Amino acid sequence: MNKKGLMVILSAPSGCGKDTIFREISKIRDDVCESISATTRAPRSGEIDGKSYYFISNEEFEQMVENSSFLEYACYNGCFYGTPAEPVKNIVDSGKICFLIIERKGAQKVMKSNPDAVSIFLMPPDMETLKKRLLKRNTESVDAISSRLEIAREEIKSSDMFDYIVVNNELEKAVMEINEILNNELKKHNS
Ligand code: 5GP
Repeated sequence: MNKKGLMVILSAPSGCGKDTIFREISKIRDDVCESISATTRAPRSGEIDGKSYYFISNEEFEQMVENSSFLEYACYNGCFYGTPAEPVKNIVDSGKICFLIIERKGAQKVMKSNPDAVSIFLMPPDMETLKKRLLKRNTESVDAISSRLEIAREEIKSSDMFDYIVVNNELEKAVMEINEILNNELKKHNS
């Protein structure tokens, strides 16, 4: 029998290092893929269409919603973000682990529609560290950073709805912890 793939929701406040964590995990495992989301947010400098996100207009996003093309979608800080359903299905059907790196409301929807999905919340060590990371990243205005921090407080409050909470204090430690979660879940999933 073919090995079954796995859907993994990785959620965290903005600036908590989800993308870095995924990058590090994909260096040590060859069975992980990331779902590429569609968004109406404008690209940041260095972001590549079709790699970082599919950058689309509000009209295109609405069309995808109408065509039921999304596994989930949500509005975050005034922009829309959605996970195209088909690529995720293809990755999971091929026996791989598909990471959905998404915010809380979308995560909640996937947990409901896909109870087999494994959910991980990446917790910042504290709010001050998160603020410093967002400022250092230098990709958002001061206003945008304060609203992201406001959203972060709400996200942290509902972190107990996730299967696992991993504190991202030391990158290497967090990566190892998630790697172990993946190994254990794959074992359970395929037993
Ligand atoms: P950013 O603007 O920093 O790239 O992303 C803002 C938030 O949207 C982050 O928490 C990110 O994980 C989340 N996000 C990215 N893609 C999706 C998606 O497809 N669906 C949902 N619900 N959230 C997403």
